[in-house]
Amino acid sequence: MAIVAPNAHKHLSADALFALVRKAFSCIDDHRSGTPDISLADALMSALAMFSLKSPSLLAFDKERAEDNLHQIYGIQRVPCDTSMREILDPVTPESLRPVFKQLFDHLQRKKALQEMMFVQDHYLLALDGTGYFSSNQLHCASCLATHHRNGTVSYAHQMLGAALIHPDKREVIPLMPAPIVRQDGPEKNDCERNAAKRLITKFRQDHPSLKVIVTEDSLSSNAPHIEMLQDHDVHYILGVKAGDHAFLFQQVAQAEQAGRVTYYERDDATQGVHHRFRFVSDMPLNASNATLRVNFIECWETTKGKTHHFSWVTDLRVNKGTVYRLMQGARARWRIENETFNTLKNQGYHFEHNFGHGYQHLSVVFAVLMMLAFCVDQVQQLCCPLFQAAWGRWGSKRLLWEKMRALFYDYALASMAHLFQALCYGLKKSAPILDIDSS
Ligand SMILES: [Zn+2]
Repeated sequence: MAIVAPNAHKHLSADALFALVRKAFSCIDDHRSGTPDISLADALMSALAMFSLKSPSLLAFDKERAEDNLHQIYGIQRVPCDTSMREILDPVTPESLRPVFKQLFDHLQRKKALQEMMFVQDHYLLALDGTGYFSSNQLHCASCLATHHRNGTVSYAHQMLGAALIHPDKREVIPLMPAPIVRQDGPEKNDCERNAAKRLITKFRQDHPSLKVIVTEDSLSSNAPHIEMLQDHDVHYILGVKAGDHAFLFQQVAQAEQAGRVTYYERDDATQGVHHRFRFVSDMPLNASNATLRVNFIECWETTKGKTHHFSWVTDLRVNKGTVYRLMQGARARWRIENETFNTLKNQGYHFEHNFGHGYQHLSVVFAVLMMLAFCVDQVQQLCCPLFQAAWGRWGSKRLLWEKMRALFYDYALASMAHLFQALCYGLKKSAPILDIDSS
């Protein structure tokens, strides 16, 4: 019986999204004068292709490259060698890639790709989280964070603050332009993340002036300057709090409880064998020195198979018996930025922590941002494109899917990414249409 592969999504397939990204790349000003042999758009698209194909290194990509397919599928006119790609991309400021993310996001909105990601009342959940992706005692560049140790040695690192739309019921995440954490952000980790968050939210608002979001972050973010910054940018929040770090708040909650102001709510999910117990109270001061900053407090005890986990958050959203469970789900979905984004990039074939080339100025950051872009294209397909979903289903694991994808890419002349995914769906039997192509 013949296996019929579903069609690729007209507007949200890999081919449609690559065309959009390529067009956006071609609008970025080239830092070089004259008419270089290889365009900036070709160099950027080649790096994106490397991450899209999950090539383990720049060298592997260079050696194995299939020029015809890179031209046909990624629209690259001239593919740079690895040295030339590094030289062209090193001076590119990461910020110049922001419009590419914005155009991709606007396209997803227009084509209704984000409808499924809506959390509550026209609002999306936007998770922020920091991660490191490079460290070395020797290799460094102008953007590296440097730590000077007591024994006189220096270690260098790269970190970024990632941002992604998440949803408690969806595995997929939609990453936005991340905020690279660079040397100017300050000497302390907390300073760095706080400054990066400020930059990220400010630019997010410029890019998306009317997008309604609820930001979720860990308990490091539950401080007055950060919450005021979120309020200034008309962004709602659900942020973690800890009894140890927010003692005043927890004391106030205890007092409110004694005064009979706290509400309790319990919910049993018999099918999942989970019991939730909540207590919540509105209009609490976040801390003693910022008594005018009022927050709504939620505490949750989740019991599964005799084990209880405890969580607590503050939010500016209204908390009542009708909303508290959903707010808890939104807050708990925050782990998806760590698990489904950073862990996927590090462990599921993207090689986030590999060194594709460090450069002297921005190369390391530019590669990280382009990898996030390639990941975004993959996530949109996973969310919206039936053909991609069928190919993934056929091979079961992403790792295997990427492996088979690369094998076909390097061995056969392909007309499009849809052609490649169709071949992956039909299988690799000799009778499959892919082998009818004469590439001699
Ligand atoms: Zn560096």
